[in-house]
Amino acid sequence: MNFSSKLLENAVNEVSQLPGIGKRTALRLVLHLLKQPASQSHHLANALTNLVDEIKLCKQCHNISDVDTCEICASHSRNTEVVCVVEDVRDVMAIENTAQFKGLYHVLGGKISPIEGIGPHNLTIDSLVEKVKKGLVKEVIFALSSTIEGDTTNFYIFKQLEEFNIKTSTIARGIAVGDELEYADEVTLGRSILNRIPFENSL
Ligand SMILES: [Zn+2]
Repeated sequence: MNFSSKLLENAVNEVSQLPGIGKRTALRLVLHLLKQPASQSHHLANALTNLVDEIKLCKQCHNISDVDTCEICASHSRNTEVVCVVEDVRDVMAIENTAQFKGLYHVLGGKISPIEGIGPHNLTIDSLVEKVKKGLVKEVIFALSSTIEGDTTNFYIFKQLEEFNIKTSTIARGIAVGDELEYADEVTLGRSILNRIPFENSL
């Protein structure tokens, strides 16, 4: 692509770094930004700057939050003895939308994936084990996607928690194999949480 402006080229290059956005789409988006009132583009730029500068991870569950302890962990109406293990904030949002789960979450920040170079120590597994070790958790629910990486991660964590004699369960396989959790409809996802089964039975 030959650009008539270095500023235009820089903006297109930055936008095209986003997943699923090619150079042509990036150019279309940047031209759209140029056409709209400057104040609107400034709002977008400010929102992104504030996001990356001020966002926090909850100290307890590692979910994305504006404060040190997220709303869910700070709530007095949640059952703190039940912890649902998920990959990221999208899964927390998906399960919260079902209104079926009243426990807490533990956000791993990904799944074990040797191909992508993600090992157990790149995730928040140690902090989950610590929580269980302190005796604060009676049940851990695995709610990762039904993929090879998800199953590998479940099994790794299950092995880490085995010695503590707590209840472990996994959400029922109402979710199609290979599907990402965030795309499941609310009924399927809600039912999966209610009908969770002991992890051993899912092997
Ligand atoms: Zn939290």
